[in-house]
Amino acid sequence: MAFNKIKSDVVILQANNNRSIQKTSNQTGNNLGYVSLVGAGPGDPDLLTVKALRVIEQADVIIYDNLVSKEIRALFPLKTETHYVGKMKGFHSSTQSEINQLLKEKALQGLNVCRLKGGDAFVFGRGGEEVLELKAIGVKVEIVPGITAAAGCSSYAGIPLTHRGLSQGCTFVTAHAEKELSIRWRALANLDHTLVFYMGLSKAGLIETQLTKAGLDVNTPVAFIENGCCPEQRVITGTLEQLASLVNKHQIKSPSLIMVGKVVALAEQLQWVEQQTNLDSVIKQLSA
Ligand code: SAH
Repeated sequence: MAFNKIKSDVVILQANNNRSIQKTSNQTGNNLGYVSLVGAGPGDPDLLTVKALRVIEQADVIIYDNLVSKEIRALFPLKTETHYVGKMKGFHSSTQSEINQLLKEKALQGLNVCRLKGGDAFVFGRGGEEVLELKAIGVKVEIVPGITAAAGCSSYAGIPLTHRGLSQGCTFVTAHAEKELSIRWRALANLDHTLVFYMGLSKAGLIETQLTKAGLDVNTPVAFIENGCCPEQRVITGTLEQLASLVNKHQIKSPSLIMVGKVVALAEQLQWVEQQTNLDSVIKQLSA
């Protein structure tokens, strides 16, 4: 099965093992490389798509972020050139313009670049900005979607994003802004949706205060999912009025996702990751 060309300068997608993107030449006849913007998912390497893994294995160079887990980094072929361009709070990190520059430089050298980002590159991942920069100089781009943290972490925490009778929608919100945070708190509180806050850990106090002021019940269930979909995953639940205090009490660390809404109350019943871990250790003990 092959999809037709979407647009002349976009990619032909093919549901087979062939690469869906080809090198092109520029006006001077030099080979241009291309960039695959790949979502690596939230951490568990088993959550990589088949396509993501294929791109990782075939790339000439991999340029990856902080949120790409060590288990996924272990899948990088040893021969492949890699560049870490992570942005970690409090540490020196590459600026977005340095990253754009590196991507362009490698593609202009004729290399096939895998630009690997945590989750999905188009969800709070600045993927769109990178694609715009590359297309502006004629570099071809393909985009490989990944499982975004909200989808991955909620599943691994046993908290459905929607549930009949409890939540008819979910809204993803970033609690981080380059300049000033402008969130319409009243609108969020009135939605009656599951709210998922990315990059919200250091803003837990603000989220608690603003949602409460906007009229959300202080007893609304909340959860932090720390290191979701990774072996160290922790799920910490409470109520809206405890949101800020939970961070100190449990020393919650980044990366963490905040979920707010009635669906969080299902976590205990639907939890499965810990049960599975317990089961694994029981099996190990029995077979020892
Ligand atoms: N593009 C990414 C999000 C990047 S923003 C995606 O689609 O998932 C970074 C934020 O995502 C983190 O601050 C955290 O809130 C969330 N996040 C990403 N991976 C996570 C994980 N494994 N566990 C918990 N939160 C995660």
